Amino acid sequence: MFAKQELDEILSSYKDFKIATICSHSALQIFNGAREQGVKTIGICTERSRELYESFPYAKPDEFIMVDDYTGIPVDELVEKESILIPHGSLVEYVGDKIDDLAIPIFGNRGSLVYEKSRNKMFEWMHRSGLRTPRVLKPDEIDGPSIVKFPGAKGGKGYIVVHTPEEYYSLVGEDAKTMVQEFIVGVRAYVHYFHSFSTPAGYKTSYGKVEMLGIDRRMESNADEIARQLSVGAKIPISFTVMGNQPLVLRESLLPQYMDMGRGVCNSSKELFGGIHGPFCIETIVTEELEVYAFEISARIVAGTNLLESPYSRYSHGPNYTTGMRIAQELKNAAKAGKLGDIVY
Ligand code: ATP
Repeated sequence: MFAKQELDEILSSYKDFKIATICSHSALQIFNGAREQGVKTIGICTERSRELYESFPYAKPDEFIMVDDYTGIPVDELVEKESILIPHGSLVEYVGDKIDDLAIPIFGNRGSLVYEKSRNKMFEWMHRSGLRTPRVLKPDEIDGPSIVKFPGAKGGKGYIVVHTPEEYYSLVGEDAKTMVQEFIVGVRAYVHYFHSFSTPAGYKTSYGKVEMLGIDRRMESNADEIARQLSVGAKIPISFTVMGNQPLVLRESLLPQYMDMGRGVCNSSKELFGGIHGPFCIETIVTEELEVYAFEISARIVAGTNLLESPYSRYSHGPNYTTGMRIAQELKNAAKAGKLGDIVY
């Protein structure tokens, strides 16, 4: 992992900062939010994606750095231009393990990625946060509908559901590195939080406050279109490839529980790897008994925030407020307070 001390030296050479990210995932929102907050932006872009990112005048970056593909981040050029890199799902996917060693300030805490990348560590993190999770099963313990997750986060792609050990072994084999979880039946809610060192909104944590900015429900194929399948008599196995997102509001009586969950994640992050800063998401399922199960934490902006303003961001920061704006605002506040080093690693 790139040393924090070296990173602080890079940061101390910055007179100002720009926001940079890979042109993918939630980049349009990140650029638009920065523009709204008067922060300059850099899009790391391939020739193939450039036309799209130039086609939205209010969400295109101020400048492009062109790359052949997204596995190599032009770190030196970005540092020269005083950039802070904003991580999102595509950055984590394309750069992979190399993200730990990038010699460039990254908004948030790259230490969290160690926990995000390993499913076992993720469960340790969720338990330390006080979250209720699905049972994790050894293949021989499968005793009902169970979801089988293969290595790497790929937006649910390729996951299957099995019901018995025999079905598992026949479909997956003996040696696959999978995680099997009890399949929780309920309504999924992907809750968007933001941890801030200084904000009037949210619940107190041990090192700041945690705000709720929005909630979405992922649209996954073909799990979310089963009724259409049934109506035409098709028997296609359930699958979970994410296609998009829909907004959701929760019944208000569930909100205290969700706020406590956000706080739990922030406090345990401090103990485990020095804290979480900026946006993160807890992916949950609410059962008919109103029990909330968490199956994943994403320690970065998630694509569901592209739904832009939600009632919760409005109640926290007023109308027309987005996670993209929140990121730029937090960085501006930290720069002004001389605290950039506290929220960037
Ligand atoms: P990403 O990193 O993009 O969030 P992923 O590849 O890590 O995706 P998950 O988010 O863990 O995948 O799961 C994909 C989908 O599978 C979820 O959005 C949800 O619909 C379903 N799912 C996951 N775990 C469970 C579970 N224990 N019970 C029921 N459904 C589940």
